[in-house]
Amino acid sequence: MIAIYPGSFDPITYGHLDIIERAASLMEKLVIVIMANDEKSGTFTFVERKEMIEHSVAHLKNVSVVIGEGLTAEFARKVGANVIVRGIRAVSDYEYEMQLATANMTISPDVETVFILAKPQYSFLSSSTAKTIAANDGPLESFVDDYVAEKLREKYR
Ligand code: ADP
Repeated sequence: MIAIYPGSFDPITYGHLDIIERAASLMEKLVIVIMANDEKSGTFTFVERKEMIEHSVAHLKNVSVVIGEGLTAEFARKVGANVIVRGIRAVSDYEYEMQLATANMTISPDVETVFILAKPQYSFLSSSTAKTIAANDGPLESFVDDYVAEKLREKYR
């Protein structure tokens, strides 16, 4: 199975990376898609996000990273994927994810959304949390890898 893992990744955290590693071990190929039509104003450019993700997944041979646009369900078909991977951290993620997955199954009935549950140590972790910690010069080592931590520190210096 070929899967896409779409998201903002602004920036990639250990929570994302855990989902990526687990999804990559289940799938033949995993394409990480930085969705570029997101209205959320970003901290990092799409190119910066791609570069940080590529650095983090260099050890995973069946994983690639692209910048995508348009509808996720249509993008999946465009790259030949039949699975969309999403991570669920808590009940609070569920409602939003259910809406997305239901819309996606209506748009592309042949593409299945697969949810992977966050590990407990990452269930509170978001890109926003990492940015708040960086903005306050706090310890980032439990949340993002060293390379991303350095980029975050540069951004908030
Ligand atoms: P989006 O804007 O699409 O929610 P994110 O980059 O915030 O983009 O998240 C992409 C996906 O990764 C979502 O399914 C989200 O629930 C999941 N995710 C984010 N952080 C974590 C985490 N700490 N553990 C597990 N899944 C996560």
